[in-house]
Amino acid sequence: MKKSIIAAALSAAITTSAMANALDPNNPSGTVVDRFADIEVLRYTVPGFENLTLDQKKFVYYLTEAALAGRDILWDQNGKYNLELRQLLEAIYQNYSGDRSDRDFLAFEKYLKQVEFGNGIYHHYSTDKFTPSFTPAWFDSQIDALKESKSGGNGLPAKVRIDQLRRLIFDAGYLPKRVNQAEGQDLIATSANNMYEGVTQKEVEDYFAAIKNPDDPTPVSYGLNTRVTKINGKVVEQPYKIGGLYSPAIERIVENLNKALPYAETAKQAESIKALIAFYTTGDLRTFDEYSILWTEDTTPVVDFINGFIESYGDPLGMTGSWESIVNFKNRKASARTETISDNAQWFEDHSPVNPRFRKPEVKGVTAKVINAAILAGDAYPSTPIGINLPNANWIRAAHGSKSVSIENITQAYDDASHGNGFNEEFVIDAPTRKLLDKYLFITDNLHTDLHECLGHASGRLMPGVDPDALKAHGSTLEETRADLFALYYLADPRLLELGLLDNPDAYKAEYYKYMLNGLMTQLMRIEPGKDVEEAHMRNRKLIAEWVLEKGAPEKVVELVKQNGKTFVKINDYRRMRELFGELLAEIQRIKSEGDYAAGAALVEKYAVKVDPALHREVLDRYAKLNIAPYKGFVNPVYTPVTDAAGNITDINVTYTEDYLPQMFRYSRDYSPLTR
Ligand code: ZN
Repeated sequence: MKKSIIAAALSAAITTSAMANALDPNNPSGTVVDRFADIEVLRYTVPGFENLTLDQKKFVYYLTEAALAGRDILWDQNGKYNLELRQLLEAIYQNYSGDRSDRDFLAFEKYLKQVEFGNGIYHHYSTDKFTPSFTPAWFDSQIDALKESKSGGNGLPAKVRIDQLRRLIFDAGYLPKRVNQAEGQDLIATSANNMYEGVTQKEVEDYFAAIKNPDDPTPVSYGLNTRVTKINGKVVEQPYKIGGLYSPAIERIVENLNKALPYAETAKQAESIKALIAFYTTGDLRTFDEYSILWTEDTTPVVDFINGFIESYGDPLGMTGSWESIVNFKNRKASARTETISDNAQWFEDHSPVNPRFRKPEVKGVTAKVINAAILAGDAYPSTPIGINLPNANWIRAAHGSKSVSIENITQAYDDASHGNGFNEEFVIDAPTRKLLDKYLFITDNLHTDLHECLGHASGRLMPGVDPDALKAHGSTLEETRADLFALYYLADPRLLELGLLDNPDAYKAEYYKYMLNGLMTQLMRIEPGKDVEEAHMRNRKLIAEWVLEKGAPEKVVELVKQNGKTFVKINDYRRMRELFGELLAEIQRIKSEGDYAAGAALVEKYAVKVDPALHREVLDRYAKLNIAPYKGFVNPVYTPVTDAAGNITDINVTYTEDYLPQMFRYSRDYSPLTR
């Protein structure tokens, strides 16, 4: 099942920790760079970069260049007019010479910031099209102004189709959603992403059914790097590769990977980079698997990166990978925690509450480390995950293991940003529970992430002959459910105290409380009134929380209670709650191991999708009063080579001063091979 990236969860908004430092005026981690619509843009820092060797710094630098070079790919995958749209909006903004407090201009500025954040015209999370609040007349006047500005060196961008973009911006019913998951509709025809063109869902499914060999024990990731379209009535795949789609951007990625290559830390890392270059050159998915295996097995380097078509959430059928890159290096201190967990992986597998038939007899290659991100790019920017678990191919995971990381400087930035935002005071039931969260949520939240990534996704096995995609559209949700339940179950295990990971047998209650609060109530702040829960991680949390609420009702394990007209989560029996997590884990693992689509779909549909409108309204109202942005993202640091008189790089400088729109404009200027 495809899942690997931990979304930056709501945990971010709720975390307040006695263990974290208060916001330090000299440390920009967690500072707010921009705030608009439902978004807050933060800064993260890259502690430890200064301690890397010069070769490691150069390695990081060229990899960050390779990361930034792919930006346009993701924009185009997200919608076929996105690159044109970006050029036009940025040209209007930069050409504007009128009053900057003008209502239409401010509305336009907000819209531009939203589009930049969404890597296109759709919201990064809901995938709904943004609604402009500037007028068509104002827009037209800016087009006229652009046309007249030509002598000033500005003018309309050359390849931009104004009428098309005008309709895209103002006609709400036109291409309204990037990824449509609504059951019973043609998910391809109704999704506006640019991974398919002129084909129906049935045509795509028939096409892949015809080329897939169900008996292949090592299947490639079909459709991962292609757009599917029709030529002369025949369904064909157009690969993303040098000489194929997105060639100018891919060439530039490869150019920088080649520059990075001499600084690879191990022979295997060099081999994996060469394999990645070969994949970008040929588009051959077998080569991608070779690269993935080399990358997975190469666990020793300090500096590591992902760069490619990885996660498939942008495709309603879950096949095509959205382009992304994260460059990172090991955070040695924090890695001790996850090393302990991964060293004990077999113990956790052997003691899990699932049917022994579905356990892995030998858990292979669960490596875990804590990293600091050096750059976020493509689908990992500005909104970014707090952990990664790759590769996605099931057979590679089974045979070669997987790499699992937590991104500590990102979690730290979230935590730094969350101090004193009033969230716990509003939503947590009483002072003792708030105290528990203050004391233990940061560490238990980190441990939850570690357990989810290091053990949860790596646990369990499919029964022979079970199609890894058997759970189809519900696969992502159920995979996240499985990993979360594994983590929740073990957070309360005395083993964590024996291993020295926790120092209090009640610490786990902090994460249990937050998890139930989030799944039952507070994550609803991300949903618009009247809408269903759609995103896989949100569905997963709701599924778990609602199921436990219902199954625990006879014993009042957990309740929703009213105090002063407000709803609160009240947990009466934490030990019983742990057993319920274990029971649900056993069932979800059975569903996955046996490929029981009907049972999986029934659970998702019953517990994970529908929202209680009254509770939803209440959460939105209470949350609105706190004035906390429901979504957060980041600006990147700026890396600048320092050279000597002969032009040799003697150091790489890192600075944390660039603002949000200036960063976007710089990227559009310097890293936009697809708009030339
Ligand atoms: Zn996950």
